[in-house]
Parts: sequence; C-alpha cells; structure tokens
Amino acid sequence: MTRDYRKGMQFLADARERLDMVAKKLKLDSGLVDKLKFPKRALIVSVPVKMDNGRLKVFTGYRVQHNLDRGPGKGGIRYHPEVTLEEVTTLAMLMTWKCAVVNIPFGGAKGGIYCNPREMSLKELEGLTRRFTYEIMMMIGPEKDIPAPDVYTNPQTMSWMMDTYSMHQGFSVPGVVTGKPVDLGGSKGRLDATGRGVMFATREGLKHLGLSLKGATVAIQGFGNVGSASARLLREAGAKIIAVSDISGGLFDPEGIDIPSLIAYIKKSKDKLLKGFKGPKFVSNPKRANEKLFSLKVDVLIPAALENQITSENAHRIRARMITEAANGPITPRADKILAKKKVFVIPDILANAGGVVVSYFEWVQDTQALFWKEKEVNTKLEEIMTEAFYDVLRTSKKHRVDMRMAAYMLAVSRVAEATRLRGIYP
Ligand code: NAD
Repeated sequence: MTRDYRKGMQFLADARERLDMVAKKLKLDSGLVDKLKFPKRALIVSVPVKMDNGRLKVFTGYRVQHNLDRGPGKGGIRYHPEVTLEEVTTLAMLMTWKCAVVNIPFGGAKGGIYCNPREMSLKELEGLTRRFTYEIMMMIGPEKDIPAPDVYTNPQTMSWMMDTYSMHQGFSVPGVVTGKPVDLGGSKGRLDATGRGVMFATREGLKHLGLSLKGATVAIQGFGNVGSASARLLREAGAKIIAVSDISGGLFDPEGIDIPSLIAYIKKSKDKLLKGFKGPKFVSNPKRANEKLFSLKVDVLIPAALENQITSENAHRIRARMITEAANGPITPRADKILAKKKVFVIPDILANAGGVVVSYFEWVQDTQALFWKEKEVNTKLEEIMTEAFYDVLRTSKKHRVDMRMAAYMLAVSRVAEATRLRGIYP
C-alpha cells in the first residue's frame, strides 16, 4: 500500500483556510486563531499484530485531540488505507466544531489506523483494535477522550476497545467509548443516529426552501452506516430515493429504489455491497456511477461516503436543489464557491451529521448514570437538539448574510473561543 499524503494535507489546509475566514468575520485575536488551528496533542503509535499467516505486521495508528476547552475529547476511529496524521487532525478539528454547533459538552478528537480492513480477518481486526487501544490508553477515558465508530469500525470494534480498556482498569468502564452494542451499555437509537440527524436536517432544510420531504427526490453517495440509515429514514418520511452508490457502483431508479429490500439484500450478502441487487439499473464502474449520481436533477443530494468528493471538477455539473453533507468534508472549499453561485443550499457536515455524536453524548450520559433510556426518548431528544441547532445556524446565516457553512462555523468557533476566554490560558 502506498499512501497519498497530499489528500490529507490539502484537507487540513482547507480546514485551516476555513477557520481563517471565520476568524476574520468574528474578528478573533490572531493568537487564539493559532491555538485553534493546531491540535492540543497528537499521538502516533505502532501497532504490531500477529496475522493469520503467522507473520507479524506493524500498522500505524493515530489519536489526535484538537481542543478540549468545552469538555472531554469526542471522535471516531477510522480504519482505512488512506488514513494519515493530517486527515485525522482535520477530522479532530471538525469534531470540535461539530460538538460546539449542537452545543454538547465535548471537545474534538479523532483516531485512525492506516490499514485495509477489507483484507483482514475478524481475528486480525480484534488484535489490531486491542493493541491500538492499549497504545492510546494514556489519552482516552470517560473524562478524557471518548472514541466512537467511524469508517470501517463498528459496535464490535467498540466492544473490543471497551473490554481492553476495562481489563487494564480492573473493572468495567462502559463510558470509555460510545457506539457500543446495547447489551454492553450502548444507547438505543445510536446505530441510526447519524442517519436520523441527516433526515431531520434535510427535513428542516427543505422546509426552509418551501419544499417538503414528502415526494422529495434524493440521491445518496455511500451506502454504509450513515448512507443506508439516512436512505431508510428519509424514505419512511416520504422521500423517494432514486440513486445510491458505493465502492461497487451505483443503483438508479427514477421511480424510487426499494430501500428496505436493498438493506435486507446487503445484510445477507457476503461482501455487503450494492452490486447484484436486482431491479434498478446498475452502473458497475464506481467513478462513472458517482458522476451520474452527482449530476442528477434531484431535490436533495447526500454525500455519505468520504471527504473531497464534490470538487471544482464536478461541482458545476450538480443540479440538486440542496445538499446535506452526511459525510465529513465531502465538498472542497472551491466546490463550495461554485455551488454558492449556483444557489445550491448546503447543510454543512458539522451540523448535518452531528446526530451520531449527539446520541454518543446520550450514551455517555447513560453509562455515567447507569440509567438507560427508551429509544423514543433518545429520538425525541435528538430531534430537539438537531432542530434547535438547524435554526440557530439558519438565524446566524440570516443575521450575518452568510451561507449555512459559514454560519455553522461562526456559531461553533465563537462558542469554543468563549470557553477558551473564560478558562484563560494556563498557567
Ligand atoms: P461506512 O464505512 O459504514 O460506509 C461508507 C460507505 O461509503 C460504504 O458504502 C462505501 O462503499 C462507500 N464509499 C466509499 N468510497 C466511496 C466512493 N468513492 N464512492 C461511493 N461510495 C463510496 O462509513 P459511515 O460510518 O457510513 O461514514 C460515512 C461518512 O460519514 C464518513 O465521512 C464519516 O466520517 C461520516 N460520519 C459517520 C458517522 C457515524 O456515526 N458512522 C457520524 C458522522 C459522520
């Protein structure tokens, strides 16, 4: 595997450029801006794993805490062949803004391991996870930094992390990670939480545009945890999902894809991919499938795969009325400018996909209190927070005559800056 470091570096440069723009609007002190541009701390670890063939393989892992002024660090762990320190650092920064925009008492963190999980057995993944947890143990803990799942990690990964951490403490510490299975102190509603938040944000966005979810046409890039839950919940709310894609290609049906059957098909299939699903037209070349999906005339386009998907090269082909950023950083700053000219209403990632971290917060609260809530309670509280955050951002956007992304950043950065100001600089 050879890593392309430029992508992560560009991602970080873009995030810092965005912060500069926001800081200018907020007239923030340049020293404070520097503090916000760089992570509080970053750890690089070597993770030796005994592979199934008996050989030792060493992976590189990262945990980055961007800012902890508003509370413990919070952010997912990503297993992916494109993970770099720069990518993880950027995602940690996005987590700081995300927690602040929905006003939950967490700072931003992120972790990742440079690996290809699709080529690893369950036993190898368990070894990787447990050793990685041990290596970052000095940084994590319920009061310090609480990891969660991200790309190619899941409730099983979180179970191994929780167990490894607990074995070292000598007692069970469920609050060290979120996104656990319900049987191990996870929260009801967590699996769907990001998708549910995407649905709430999309619903309010359409309302703002004078449209309704009922009958709205939607295209979704990425059909993993977030993409599939968003598709299912949007469909349940009356929307028509006319295109979805993943790494195997894309499915297209102007009459609407049967999402429950597709999800059932993927669950049963060996490789968990869209390919082979009967009915809708299938475009097997993933690049072409994405091109087609991005250029569809739909009410809502939802990138729910990875960062840097909508760029200056393809943004001018977009014909969607609105984009809900379910993935982190799917639109580059240059593409943003093109979309603004085309008057596409963009609900930014730090707001649109915050449902996951909100329910992670609920999970942490429940673990800390050892008192668990019904799913209805979780979903109702999530809806309240997401709706309130959406209108906080919309009001800021109207007041300062800026787009939703700038408004979300202004709100988030000002909240973090205020926490820093109140705490002061130690010593
Ligand atoms: P996942 O691994 O479950 O799913 C990713 C999906 O994207 C898969 O279907 C994969 O095939 C697809 N994909 C990858 N590259 C693609 C490409 N080039 N074209 C089309 N499809 C592609 O991951 P996830 O948890 O659903 O996360 C997706 C995004 O949402 C990430 O950016 C993640 O950081 C973000 N996010 C996730 C959560 C969460 O709770 N899981 C919360 C907030 C944000």
